[in-house]
Amino acid sequence: MVLTHIAVGMALSLPVAVVAPDLAASTAVGGAIGGAFPDVDLLFGDHRRTLHFPVLYWPPAIALAVVALVVSPITIVAAVVVGAAAVHSASDVLGAGEELRPWERTNPDAVYDHLRGRWLRAQYIVRYDGAPEDLLLTVAFSTPVAVCLDGLPRWIAVLTVILALPYTIVRKRLPNQFEKIL
Ligand SMILES: [Zn+2]
Repeated sequence: MVLTHIAVGMALSLPVAVVAPDLAASTAVGGAIGGAFPDVDLLFGDHRRTLHFPVLYWPPAIALAVVALVVSPITIVAAVVVGAAAVHSASDVLGAGEELRPWERTNPDAVYDHLRGRWLRAQYIVRYDGAPEDLLLTVAFSTPVAVCLDGLPRWIAVLTVILALPYTIVRKRLPNQFEKIL
């Protein structure tokens, strides 16, 4: 779920917090934004395709990280933003396919690989978004962020867990509600 992606994106800032504490907060917020960004294509375009690049986000992310190491440390913020989007897109393979009730496994298409021009198959390691193991991942990645950082990053990390808990509880009832509204 997007909350897990936000938590994972923020966790990417933890190594930065160790070597450059003054960049920790901006990098963590950047990680949250980059972690959420690909799922904006839920609202427009083709979900898991328009803004998801499981391969093509990596070269700019790595290039920005190299620039940060060699030239200008501030570039690490941009590296983490793009890196979080890369991790999000690639890790969607670990979940289910794109469908209203992902636990039914009628669609194995997890995320579109623009480089090879085909859908990557869902691995179902996280059975569906909002599954208990998904909540566990949110907690696992948010906790070190909330413990090690303060201010806005801490609050975003706490908020991901606060929102993920009820989402996990009602997840399987959501499609019925959704269809009633439509
Ligand atoms: Zn996604």
